[in-house]
Amino acid sequence: MADRLETESRKLLGRLRDAMAGDLEGQARLDRITHLIADSMGCEVCSIYLFRDEDTLELCATEGLNPDAVHKTRMKLGEGLVGMVARNRQVVNTPDAPQAKGFRYMPETGEEIYSSFLGVPVQRLGEALGVLVVQSRTAREFSADEVYALEVVAMVLAEMTELGAFIGDNAAMSARHSQPVLFRGTVGQEGAAEGHVWLHEPRVVVTNPIADDPERERVRLREAVEQLRVGVDKMLEIAGGQDKDQQQVLEAYRMFANSKGWMRRMEEDISNGLSAEAAVEKEQSVARARMGQVTDQYLRERLSDLDDLSNRLLRILTGQGADTGAEMPADPILIARNIGPAELLEYGRSLKGIVLEEGSVGSHAAIVARALAIPLVVHAERVTTEALNGDHIMVDGEQGVVHLRPDDNVVTAFRDKIAMLAAAQERYASIRDLPAETQDGAVLSLQMNAGLMADLPSLPSSGAEGVGLFRTELQFLVRNQMPRRSELVALYARVLDAAGGKPVVFRTLDIGSDKVLPYMKPNDEPNPALGWRAIRVGLDKPGIMRMQLQALIRAANGRPLTVMFPFVAQFEEYRSARRLMDKTLAAEERLGHVLPESVKVGAMLETPSLAFAPLKFFEEVDFLSIGGNDLKQFFFAADRENERVRRRYDTLNVSFLSFIEGIVERCNATGTPLSFCGEDAGRPVEAMCFAAIGLRSLSMRPASIGPVKSLLRRTNLPEVRKVIADARHRGEMSVRPAVMEWLRTRGA
Ligand code: PEP
Ligand code: MG
Repeated sequence: MADRLETESRKLLGRLRDAMAGDLEGQARLDRITHLIADSMGCEVCSIYLFRDEDTLELCATEGLNPDAVHKTRMKLGEGLVGMVARNRQVVNTPDAPQAKGFRYMPETGEEIYSSFLGVPVQRLGEALGVLVVQSRTAREFSADEVYALEVVAMVLAEMTELGAFIGDNAAMSARHSQPVLFRGTVGQEGAAEGHVWLHEPRVVVTNPIADDPERERVRLREAVEQLRVGVDKMLEIAGGQDKDQQQVLEAYRMFANSKGWMRRMEEDISNGLSAEAAVEKEQSVARARMGQVTDQYLRERLSDLDDLSNRLLRILTGQGADTGAEMPADPILIARNIGPAELLEYGRSLKGIVLEEGSVGSHAAIVARALAIPLVVHAERVTTEALNGDHIMVDGEQGVVHLRPDDNVVTAFRDKIAMLAAAQERYASIRDLPAETQDGAVLSLQMNAGLMADLPSLPSSGAEGVGLFRTELQFLVRNQMPRRSELVALYARVLDAAGGKPVVFRTLDIGSDKVLPYMKPNDEPNPALGWRAIRVGLDKPGIMRMQLQALIRAANGRPLTVMFPFVAQFEEYRSARRLMDKTLAAEERLGHVLPESVKVGAMLETPSLAFAPLKFFEEVDFLSIGGNDLKQFFFAADRENERVRRRYDTLNVSFLSFIEGIVERCNATGTPLSFCGEDAGRPVEAMCFAAIGLRSLSMRPASIGPVKSLLRRTNLPEVRKVIADARHRGEMSVRPAVMEWLRTRGA
């Protein structure tokens, strides 16, 4: 029976291929296909429903239902049995459709006389494209083999749809990936950019979903899987048990690559007439659809491993490498599911914009994007499935909106917006050399954050008084091996040269958490953000820290040197680090190196514990800098990389503001210089509130200095203090609404 069905299935696919090869127009092809499927499966009805827009399905062709209903009958996602198949991406197989839960009667189709119903999703790589349905009068449940055969056909239909086989005039489908699409995501870095799509991981295109020599396809598949296995073993060998996470992923790869179940399912797909690559894609689609339903993190990760492995296999089979030979456009906007800070740094400033399907505002990739001043939108759902290399795209980093293949109206409006932003920047340029002085005479010091040599040119143009945070780890992240001391000396010296006498605060290596050095063995930690990172690594591996301190001392070469240690959680950590600095200075002197003219050693306050350190700590430390990004995540116990929780807690929440105020008071009492260098310092309203509670030094990305200074110069701090105090008095959770209302009434 199964063999007969296999032969039938192959025959049907052969007929479908002939229909595709003929010179039929889009709609005629769809009609012919429904006829062939109904005929081959012995059913009176076969219908194809495809998505018209994101949540509307349309009957696009039918054999057996009323032909007048074609392109008229529409249903919402989840509506009726067809809508259910599309929403759940699952087969519906019922002998008595009108009685089935969710059935919705569509009088115009005349389907009420058909009892049995089998609907399967048409999907490609986890993206739902439509639904394929067969119906018959006799009340019967379709066999597992029949369901399977229809799924195979649906897979071929998905490939054909992707290839644009059903495009045509009149009511036929319009071309996929050709319409304008708007994505609403989250702002990662402000700014607007226009350019062309550059996919971080180009999609594989399968042009031959049907094959009539199953034996040949099986051989191709086995050879490709063998090649894959060898590749995975080699990767495991190279990883050499060093990196536990990587090892785990590779072991999972190996498990899948050797999985009999996976192989068997793909071989079955081939027996039913699919080509080797279409079989891989079919199983990949099933895994992706499952991924959307599984909540267990471990299982999701394994499904995503399988997804990666399938991509590798597809590349082997199609010969389409990660490097497709396509040329990067001159104005690339990078599209990726997610990206790490090191990979992003590799692209560097060549990018005009970045759009991520996942990603997070608090991640270091976002910080790198900010350091590079590249507009970034995160959480743009489905963007990697919709965008094609070379598509025209506009990224609105102000609103978190992305226009893919925009129409002329959008293009005009967007270009106006870019011009407006440029004009605003020019306005800020006019106050560049004026102090950040408030109406009531308070003067703030505004500095910039940096991490790359390429950031330094912004120092004079932004009006920053110095570099308040130089993230030294970015230099370590861009390399494949630990930089040598001599390289660091040269680099830090160039940074100081470029600063031209303005102060630079070098932060020692802050690795761990999401900043994983490719050449350092990462620890397998359940909570890396709370784990072995930053100064904890530095104190446990003093060799690296000493090397970095030596490089800084030598680079200063008689000039003043300012260094701060990240992630200090208790007094003793600062003391140990400072001792190391003192010892290194003494050793450098013995070696005959010129010592810096002055050395200031500070700590970053990034954990709430440090705010409550003994007053002696505040007295000993040369200065403190609040790392608000980390401090906020630990204060609210809300992961800075998890959008779901990150956004729940406002920086202007009364609790957080009071906490910062407490730090300001302790620093004032002990005469400890204090600054704030988290991302919030660069947000004008936040910066204004920080100034109101007593902060006088803020460090931010260069592009924020203009807007922050502009607002500060128009602000009277006692008034803001009163607004904050009143909001507190009223028991409000956040002072933001009151502050915004006050700004609005002032016309600011
Ligand atoms: C911070 O935590 O606020 C900070 C400035 O450091 P990073 O963002 O690099 O962790
Ligand atoms: Mg930090």
